[in-house]
Amino acid sequence: MITAKGYGTKHSFTDLKPYQFERDEAGPHDVEIEVLFCGVCHSDIHQVKNEWSNTVYPCVPGHEIVGRVRKVGAQVGKHAVGDLVGVGCMIDSCRACAPCRCGEENYCEGPNSWLATYNGPMVPAKKAPNRANVYGRDNTFGGYSDVVVVNEDFVLKIPAGLAPEAAAPILCAGVTTYSPMKHWGVKAGDKVGVLGFGGLGHMAAKLAKAMGAEVTVFTREKEKLEEAQRIGVVGVLENDSDALEKLAGSFDFILSTVPEKHDLNPFVELLKRDATLCVVGALEPLKPIDNQALAFHRRGVAGSLIGSIAETREVLEFCAEHGIAPDIELIPIQQINDAFKKVEKGEVRFRYVIDMASLNGDSASFDSF
Ligand code: NDP
Repeated sequence: MITAKGYGTKHSFTDLKPYQFERDEAGPHDVEIEVLFCGVCHSDIHQVKNEWSNTVYPCVPGHEIVGRVRKVGAQVGKHAVGDLVGVGCMIDSCRACAPCRCGEENYCEGPNSWLATYNGPMVPAKKAPNRANVYGRDNTFGGYSDVVVVNEDFVLKIPAGLAPEAAAPILCAGVTTYSPMKHWGVKAGDKVGVLGFGGLGHMAAKLAKAMGAEVTVFTREKEKLEEAQRIGVVGVLENDSDALEKLAGSFDFILSTVPEKHDLNPFVELLKRDATLCVVGALEPLKPIDNQALAFHRRGVAGSLIGSIAETREVLEFCAEHGIAPDIELIPIQQINDAFKKVEKGEVRFRYVIDMASLNGDSASFDSF
């Protein structure tokens, strides 16, 4: 076992604090990675606070990890000591089901589904058929820590040309927005809408623009209209009914990144015939949608979950090729609880990334779980 240091919590109602805990040594196919940077996703907040009612405590969040390989297992062929690499939301999958076999591990249908970078398998043993536990564990610890150990197939190379700290959010915010745009065939000349201009939303806007789409972001914040202009997209206040009326029936694709239940009906009205509004933000029951507005134009409302390893590789390369980087604010780990509050209040522009070197200077004591 190796001893890791990081920030986590044992309860939904307490702040994150320093802990030390054990990780398995790298097996023959594993890579040991010194974590350099980790993005702060709104999912980390949902998970820490048990807002999806599935958190396994203790919880050490973090699934936008960039680090340096410092050890490889005997049979590792894809990565070498010293490589700059990334880890996103998944660290393993069943590899046998139909989605895994066609490279869509993020929809793994194995007994425990995919193994999340933190919070264990998507289907824990107590809910799996015959209480299966194919990964041998019901919890995993994420990137708010100094080291992670990951199967080589779930470790991504960071392309040259991407700054390591800016690459981190691409591993979740980037691929979660890239994957549905690719799936629903966003192409040059399309009109794409993005609802919620936060971590995911600003990546969606930059990616869609680089795909050649005409992009409009819908936001609650007047002040973000200027931010939209700065990145070269159109900004519209989401409650500006006159503006929405003028945009009716004009969008080829809309992505909602709003983190909670939201009235989607005004945005369904913006879709063309046969177009789709995909919700990645709210992973919970949605507010009712008027099926007349869908049926009369054969419109669709859909969902999408992160992205595959192949898509993560693709979006990293796409960002390097098109010079796309998220707008980040680098923070030391000691500011994480404050950062969570600011994300919830919508005050971050647009993604916090933890500089993990700050762990070394931590004078606090690291309790064991
Ligand atoms: P952020 O908080 O960075 O951004 C969300 C944005 O949505 C905010 O900036 C705000 O934009 C808008 N918003 C927030 N609250 C509300 C509200 N109550 N009503 C309307 N708009 C709101 O979050 P992230 O981008 O990190 O994540 C967004 C969601 O996506 C989270 O719920 C996260 O868990 C989920 N997620 C889903 C994934 C998937 O695979 N499906 C993967 C990763 C994340 P504005 O100020 O412009 O209105």
